[in-house]
Amino acid sequence: MEQLQTLILGSGPAGYTAAIYAGRSGLSPVIYEGLQPGGQLTQTTEVDNFPGYPEGVDGNQLMADLRNQALRFGTEIRNKYCVKADLSKRPFTLTFDDESQVQTQTLIIATGASAKYLGLPDEEKYRGLGVSACATCDGFFYRKKVVAVVGGGDTACEEATYLAGLASKVYLIVRKPFLRASKAMQDRVFANEKIEVLFETNTIGLYGEDGVEGAHLVYRKGEADERTYDLPIDGFFLAIGHNPNTELFKGQLEMDEVGYLKTEGQTPRTNVEGVFAAGDVADPLYRQAITAAAMGCKAAIEVKQFLDENSL
Ligand code: NDP
Repeated sequence: MEQLQTLILGSGPAGYTAAIYAGRSGLSPVIYEGLQPGGQLTQTTEVDNFPGYPEGVDGNQLMADLRNQALRFGTEIRNKYCVKADLSKRPFTLTFDDESQVQTQTLIIATGASAKYLGLPDEEKYRGLGVSACATCDGFFYRKKVVAVVGGGDTACEEATYLAGLASKVYLIVRKPFLRASKAMQDRVFANEKIEVLFETNTIGLYGEDGVEGAHLVYRKGEADERTYDLPIDGFFLAIGHNPNTELFKGQLEMDEVGYLKTEGQTPRTNVEGVFAAGDVADPLYRQAITAAAMGCKAAIEVKQFLDENSL
């Protein structure tokens, strides 16, 4: 079986930054890009808060730059998806979607997080037929149409604002009587004439013949003035947060109750020696590209020290 020194799972800012640092330390890292090469930033438009880009940068461009930087320092990038990880003994054994296997002395987990869905059967029924968790990917299909975005955080406000640039009308469906998003984001939403916020509203289902034609909503569920009604829409966008991609490591690595990997203090060390976690997969709090990149850097430094200390 192929033997590696350093394997990185995931190709967001954490994975690529880990590769840049590991590559510069002479470790010849191998990155497995996963299902969404480039990670979440490839699904966004302009990134205005990544240091070093005074005019902002397109999310895809930023990830392409990081990828090229990783390649420059000898990273090998493989387009496969890990389906099994055995961390019970070192070298760790990983199995991929094409049934290939590799063993590695050190592992950096930078698998990020994925969009959450409400869990309604209709979301499955209409997936790709009007249901989406990525406005920047699918917004194009809703030009001059009516859409709804679910959620009250920064993502929901950002997506609603983005969609308002394309659609004729955007409903923002918020379960609480207020938005959780930052003040700046809220101001943008309230100032946009195309966006109508439906507070204290939950979605109970979707309807439509060949695709979404509307949503069944309930206003003030459980209250005296509870009211159910149908809202005609063409597209239904989820923006209710993310789940960490840690399924592979359940029962092997310590996680919090949501599934975020636990690390030791300020370090990216997991409870298994030689396994490190970086980026959103281990960060329920900040979840920013720049914090993910910083964690990737720390993980690569730890890997180098671990290999040196163990003469590997
Ligand atoms: P958040 O966790 O901040 O917000 C999730 C939203 O979805 C909340 O309003 C929540 O409601 C709602 N929600 C969750 N589950 C359900 C459900 N089952 N039904 C209905 N509504 C639901 O996630 P975000 O993705 O918005 O943001 C994640 C992090 O990323 C935050 O720290 C955010 O600040 C950051 N971010 C920053 C951006 C920027 O600075 N440009 C852009 C995007 C995100 P409730 O409030 O009731 O819990």
